[in-house]
Amino acid sequence: MLFDTHTHLDAAQFDEDREEVIARALEQGVSRMINIGFNRETIPTTMELAEKYDFIYAAVGWHPQDAVTMRPEDLDWIAELCRHDKVVAIGEIGLDYYWDTSPQDVQQSVFRQQIGLARNLQMPIVIHNRDAHADVVRILREEHAEEVGGVMHCFSGSWEIAKQCLDLGFYISFGGPITYKNAKQPKEVLSQVPLDRLLIETDSPYLTPHPFRGIRNETGYVRLVAEAAAALKGLELEELSKITFQNALNCFRFD
Ligand SMILES: [Zn+2]
Ligand SMILES: [Zn+2]
Repeated sequence: MLFDTHTHLDAAQFDEDREEVIARALEQGVSRMINIGFNRETIPTTMELAEKYDFIYAAVGWHPQDAVTMRPEDLDWIAELCRHDKVVAIGEIGLDYYWDTSPQDVQQSVFRQQIGLARNLQMPIVIHNRDAHADVVRILREEHAEEVGGVMHCFSGSWEIAKQCLDLGFYISFGGPITYKNAKQPKEVLSQVPLDRLLIETDSPYLTPHPFRGIRNETGYVRLVAEAAAALKGLELEELSKITFQNALNCFRFD
C-alpha cells in the first residue's frame, strides 16, 4: 500500500508505454497517486488521467517556471477545476530561482495569488521550492498559508527551513534523492521530520532513485523511496508505507 503523492504520468516521456508504467506501479503496490498539472499544457492532460483511472487524483496550479504565462483567466480556470471530485490540491506552486525562466517578482506574485485562491477555496497546496527557501517560507507566512496547509514537495532545504514549514502545518515530502549515497542533507532532515508529517513521492519522470539513477523515473519506484525512508526511520517497509499512506489521506483530505 504505497501512495505516490507527486508524479507527472502525463509527461511525453511516457507516451510510448504509459499503460505499462501504470500497470507496473500497481504491481509494486502503489494504489494511489496524485498527478500534477502545472501549466496550460499539463493541466488538461492531468485531468484526462484523473478521469480515466480511479486511483489517479489531480493537483492543478501554475508552476513558478511558467509564472510569466499565467493570465487572470487561468486563475479562474484553476478555481473551476477545484470543484472536480478528483482534484485534491492546488499545485505545484512556489518559487524556482534555479531555472531563470520567469522573473522573481512575477513568480512571487503568481505564488501569492494562488495561495489566496487556495485559502478562498480551502484547498491544500503543493509547494515547489528550488533555491528559494527563505522567500518561500516568508511568503507562506505573509499569505497565511497555514490556513490551508499542504506539502513541501521533494524537500531539499535544511532542518531549520523544514521546522518552519512544519510550524506552518505543512507535510514534508521526499523523493529519489534520499536514496543517493552523497545526499546527506535530505537524509538528515528526513530522520528528524515527525512520522506523522512525512510523505513520499517520485516526481517521475525526474529524480530517479538509486539504482536506476540516470534513466527515466516512474511511479513504481516510489517503493525504493519508501525503502530508503523506512531504513532511515528504523521501520519495516510495511509500517512506513502504512503511515505515509495515512498521512497523504490526511494531507489531501480524503474522507
Ligand atoms: Zn516541483
Ligand atoms: Zn513536479
